[in-house]
Amino acid sequence: MVVGELTEEVDVLVIGAGPGGYVAAIRAAQLGKSVTVVDKADLGGVCLNRGCIPSKALISAAHHYEAAKTSPYPGVETTATLDFSKVQAWKQTVVEKMTGGVKTLLKGNKINVIQGEVFFSKPDEARVMTETEGHSYRFNHCIIATGSRPIELRSIPFSKRVISSDEALSFDQVPESLIVIGGGYIGIELGQTFAKFGAKVTILEGTDSILPLFEPQLSRLVLRNLKKYDVDVVTKAMAKSVEEDETGVTLTYALGEETHTVRASYVLVTVGRRPNTEELGLDTIGIKLTDKGLIEVDEKCRTSVQNIYAIGDIVPGAALAHKASYEGKVAAEVIAGHESVVDYRCIPAVVFSDPEIATVGLSEADAKAENKEVSVGRFPYAANGRAVALNADEGFVKLIADKKSGLLLGAQVIGAEASNLIAELALAIELGATLEDVALTIHAHPTLGEMVMESAEVALGSPIHVVVR
Ligand SMILES: Cc1cc2nc3c(=O)[nH]c(=O)nc-3n(C[C@H](O)[C@H](O)[C@H](O)COP(=O)(O)OP(=O)(O)OC[C@H]3O[C@@H](n4cnc5c(N)ncnc54)[C@H](O)[C@@H]3O)c2cc1C
Repeated sequence: MVVGELTEEVDVLVIGAGPGGYVAAIRAAQLGKSVTVVDKADLGGVCLNRGCIPSKALISAAHHYEAAKTSPYPGVETTATLDFSKVQAWKQTVVEKMTGGVKTLLKGNKINVIQGEVFFSKPDEARVMTETEGHSYRFNHCIIATGSRPIELRSIPFSKRVISSDEALSFDQVPESLIVIGGGYIGIELGQTFAKFGAKVTILEGTDSILPLFEPQLSRLVLRNLKKYDVDVVTKAMAKSVEEDETGVTLTYALGEETHTVRASYVLVTVGRRPNTEELGLDTIGIKLTDKGLIEVDEKCRTSVQNIYAIGDIVPGAALAHKASYEGKVAAEVIAGHESVVDYRCIPAVVFSDPEIATVGLSEADAKAENKEVSVGRFPYAANGRAVALNADEGFVKLIADKKSGLLLGAQVIGAEASNLIAELALAIELGATLEDVALTIHAHPTLGEMVMESAEVALGSPIHVVVR
């Protein structure tokens, strides 16, 4: 420390202004705390700047371009042209609107915002380096929400043409061709999007199925649709090495005993994300990490250092924005003296693929693995009037309930608007609803939501719009 430099006192210091950090900061301020939030980059974190929001903007533009190219409605003739630079400019305005919103919210809640990089010097003190100077802050409580960054493959390091999702979201033109390494949700969303924009896409996945965290009955439909866009999907493929030249890349991968090569303009590596825990000085203050480098926390989001909390992508669990925000609220409430704890039973997961996948709670396999006897109800989009009228009759809603009590344990939706339909099912589980509660709720006709009611009726053995066998 510079001699004579003052150490500022702050009550709650939040490190990182992503969906975890900015939400934690706002909730702490609402609960009467004085809050300082520090981020070394842009407000909104990965989600708003390089994740959820820009990817969804490109997905929706690609979806509309595709729909305009081959109108899904007989009799509606369309022609489509694409000016990708305008699409990108629009995506950027979406990002700026949302990050501007975060700035306004922080200001409106009287939160002190600092741009700088933080590292801990003591268990109650952190140093913030701005571009020009350093300051020390002594805090009563701290919430670490530093998020994650893309994993780089050692044998295929990032370069001009070997890129992460960050660069893929900022392409200034649609690449002629793209190899995606990793068929998880980020790889599938981006791969399908660029295929719709006209790129020739190859997806290499190491396990035997794309979207390996989802059940095959869900991933199968996405796979079928990827093939419609001429995407080559190679499973059990291990990417080995890459050669890069002026015009593209040649990637070598192993498929069992065989070695193959594939050439494209770019390689997009989406094999996972690494927590930003290394450069914070966590070891100097004794914060315990898991063997994956994640911060160990209890159900109140407290780390092994009692006044420091951790939330979001740096702690175990699904690396999802709504999980980070949820934990942010819990941490802030605990700091304010509330009895809050995390309960992960109802964290939905969505893949914005075409068709969309959304799940919440237990899958049928999870429930069986827990030795639960279950009732299952599955209702197809093809039997729902609204879905047929939308020309989106692909997919199903599936409910999993405890056989004896009828309590809803989990739900899976694949098809149009799955991302929105899942909210009702999460609420039902959260409220402890039974199949009967869901079936007795009157759903407006004709809506996709009726499938929720009808799938409950299927599980109860008395559906109206499908025949029970
Ligand atoms: C392409 C893509 C698409 C995604 N789509 C979705 C989606 O549709 N839905 C969903 O739920 N999730 C999605 N995610 C995941 C989501 O973005 C993350 O789960 C979420 O951003 C995690 O929030 P966080 O607050 O933990 O961290 P982050 O959003 O990563 O924010 C961390 C912040 O901390 C700052 N920081 C880091 N270190 C320091 C330091 N030492 N000092 C100061 N500041 C620091 C960083 O600058 C950053 O702003 C997507 C991710 C990607 C990459």
